[in-house]
Amino acid sequence: RQPVDSPLYPLLSAAADFYRHALKSHPARQAAVDYLKGRGLSGVIARDFGLGFAPPGWDNLMKHMGGDSLQEKALIDAGLLIENAEGRRYDRFRDRVMFPIRDSRGRVIAFGGRVLGDDKPKYLNSPETPVFHKGQELYGLYEARKNNRDLDEIMVVEGYMDVIALAQQGLRNAVATLGTATSEEHIKRLFRLVPNILFCFDGDQAGRKAAWRALEACLPSLQDGRRARFLFLPEGEDPDSLVRKEGPDAFRARISQQAQPLADYFFRHLMEEADPATLEGKAHLATLAAPLLDQLPGANLRALMRQRLGEITGLGNEALGRLANAPTNDV
Ligand code: ATP
Ligand code: MN
Ligand code: MN
Ligand code: MN
Repeated sequence: RQPVDSPLYPLLSAAADFYRHALKSHPARQAAVDYLKGRGLSGVIARDFGLGFAPPGWDNLMKHMGGDSLQEKALIDAGLLIENAEGRRYDRFRDRVMFPIRDSRGRVIAFGGRVLGDDKPKYLNSPETPVFHKGQELYGLYEARKNNRDLDEIMVVEGYMDVIALAQQGLRNAVATLGTATSEEHIKRLFRLVPNILFCFDGDQAGRKAAWRALEACLPSLQDGRRARFLFLPEGEDPDSLVRKEGPDAFRARISQQAQPLADYFFRHLMEEADPATLEGKAHLATLAAPLLDQLPGANLRALMRQRLGEITGLGNEALGRLANAPTNDV
């Protein structure tokens, strides 16, 4: 997945050191410290996740890393510097709180940077580089595994701050996709590590959309014995805001009482798309569901969900079987 060795690793590691050091001692650090404190983060958790600060200015990192044009070229390859059309080079990350993204071995491969206020864009991520492939990486996975030798369930959330706030409250098993949709690659990776995945996205339209996409990404990996669940949060909340408001015990109670098994969410969602009170709705529902169920590798879950689909629609196995094999007849 990643090159075993690359000259970019030591550069990224040195940059992480620079940002971390700046959070401790740069003259402009106070705004970043206040920002993190204002979001309820402790110094301990900041150190755990290696948080840093990219100071304001165009060339702090560039100057610190020194070197010749060749070195600068490597920093561009690492996503740390940008070269504009006129050939001028400058720091990509400026005046931001820095979140180092690590690979499974703990090597820094990229960064996310957040503005200290409400400016746009709120988050800036490293671009794709030879060592950073967004659709495969999960923020916090290294930290979750390090702190949890016998991890049984991983929680997938949207944001850096969700991962860190949950960890600070003792829920140390959260990882975040990096501003991208949950991919089949992500899911495959997670199911290689744990038998259970819990999705907990933001309580907003985007979060609910992300949940359904995550369900679709799960289907091809859902062998019998593996389990995916979905926890939906109250409107306007995300895991960070909610765990800070309610505390870890209430959040754990939510998980155990409200997390929906994938199969339940599957039918509930489809019954919102297609009204099973009418024959037309039942027909539509079966058309939507059959090709999705077909992707399930777990023969038992597939059979049980087909059976459930039969109960909802009144269609027998024979009709549902025909449906699964038929080409979808979209207009
Ligand atoms: P915060 O709590 O710091 O305001 P958030 O994590 O709740 O941020 P969301 O708007 O819910 O932010 O977005 C979820 C995640 O999506 C972010 O953590 C970040 O990884 C990614 N993201 C959000 N906005 C951007 C952006 N403008 N560019 C790139 N990625 C983004
Ligand atoms: Mn959101
Ligand atoms: Mn948030
Ligand atoms: Mn959010």
